[in-house]
Formats: sequence, structure tokens, C-alpha cells
Amino acid sequence: MKKILLSFLVLSLTAVLAGEQKPGPKVFISVDMEGIWGVVHANQTSPDSPEYGAARKWMAEDVNAVVDGLLAAGAGLVVVNDSHGSMRNIIADQLDPRVALISGSPKPLSMMEGIDASFDACLFIGYHAQAGTAAASLDHTISGSTMRSIRINGLELPELGINAAIAGSHNVPVIMLSGDEATCLQAKAVLGQSLIAVAVKKAVGRYAAQMRPRDAARQALTQGAREALAGLSRVKPFRLDPPLNFELEFHNSGQAEMPSLLSQVKRTGARSVAFTTDDYLQGFKLMRAVIALAGYN
Ligand SMILES: [Zn+2]
Repeated sequence: MKKILLSFLVLSLTAVLAGEQKPGPKVFISVDMEGIWGVVHANQTSPDSPEYGAARKWMAEDVNAVVDGLLAAGAGLVVVNDSHGSMRNIIADQLDPRVALISGSPKPLSMMEGIDASFDACLFIGYHAQAGTAAASLDHTISGSTMRSIRINGLELPELGINAAIAGSHNVPVIMLSGDEATCLQAKAVLGQSLIAVAVKKAVGRYAAQMRPRDAARQALTQGAREALAGLSRVKPFRLDPPLNFELEFHNSGQAEMPSLLSQVKRTGARSVAFTTDDYLQGFKLMRAVIALAGYN
């Protein structure tokens, strides 16, 4: 009985979402918080701080500016995945009512939950630079307290690269990114020069930045999204070829201890582990489990 009810609910939600799909490209947005206009400090991105309320509103506003551009360029459906921390940052009714929001955590694909081969394009909004980038707002890679670096097949990648390869494994190209200036440069270096990268601020250091005037920033987001979707065919999906060797370096040796208990994972140094897989999505999920175990003490 329960099973019948559950499958009815699943079917009806699928039907509802399919009903929302108008003619035109289907677009996935992953939205983080560190690269949002106005954000310069972790107090603004942490729910226990009084400064958090303002930043979550700016987060919705940056996304709304992007959605305006996407819909103007003919998007048929826009799905937004809240991708920071608890992943419950965007207040649902502050988001453009024409988009479908994915909220909450944990999710198997984390910042990329919801993407599949039915999407035509992917955007990264409010993204930040990889751990160890100078003059970049709140630079880190997945876990600031745990990860020093993540390399896949020898290439050190920021979150934007790791996540772009998830989209790529579904053959979906990343067409636009927003964040600070350093993140935009990093994104083009990893994903290619045809990516549209919109800087909403220029970091002075890890905890200070000069914002672009708010109107100009939001207009640039709208304009960038419109151009990116209109030029969709120019961009190729970002793919990493198997076999895939994941190398994870932590901040300290204790963080390598628990991950080393997994049979697939090899300890390669005092504070590093590695594993190899042929399936990128499997590798990504194992990497997430490894990072979660690294935080155990
Ligand atoms: Zn974040």
C-alpha cells in the first residue's frame, strides 16, 4: 500500500515537473555562497551568525538576475540546486517563482544533485576559487577544514572543475560561472576560454573584496546568462578520461587515518590518500565519503 502510494507521489511529481517544461533548453544552476555579490567572510555564510540573513537574500538575488537572462534567451525549464553548507540557504519564496529549487542536504551528488542527461546546459553561480588561491574570497576545495588539495589524473582541481566533470559525464556543458575575479580566471583556465565568466567582485584578500556596484553586477549576470545560453552550441562538455586517479591531500596526518580504512583507498603519504576508478560518478561519491571520514576525530 505504502509502495503504491509512494510510486504515485513520485509519478505525479515527475508529471508536474514535466508539465513545467516549456519548449526550449533545460538549464541546471548550482549556486554556492562564497562567490555571491557582497559576501567576503564566513560569518556571512554561516547560519549561526547574525550576518547570514543578508547574504542568503543576496544569494537569491544573484540567481534571480541569472534566471532573467536565461528565460529571456528562451530557457524552457530552470532547476536551481542550493549548493552551500546545509544547502538550505535560499529562502524558497525569495527565488524567482518560475524556477524549480532543490534544497537541503545530504544529496548523493551534493552541489550537482539533480543534473542528468536531459539538461542542455549548466551554470555555476556564486562559486569560489580552489584552496590555496591568493586574493580570492574564502578560497577552499569542498571542505576548508579538511582539504589541502584534490588532484584527478595529476590535475589539481577547484570545485568548479570537479563539478563540471559531473555535468560532463552526462554530456552537459558548463556555459557560465559567476564569482570573484580570481575564480573567473581559474574557471576559464580549467573549462576553456569560451566559458562566460562574470566577476561580481574583486577580492583584496581572503576576507575582503571590492564589490562591483550592485546594479552593474546584477545586469552583468543577466546579460552573461542571456549570451551564454544563446551561444550554447560553442561550448563542449568538460570530461575527464578514465582510468581516473583521485589524490586527496589533507591538512594534517590525522585526517588520513579513517579514510585509509576503506579497502579501495590507499594511504600515499602522512596526510594523503588515493584511489582509482573507471566511473567518474562512483569516484566522486567515494571522494565525498573519504572527505566525510577525514573530518572524524
Ligand atoms: Zn560554499
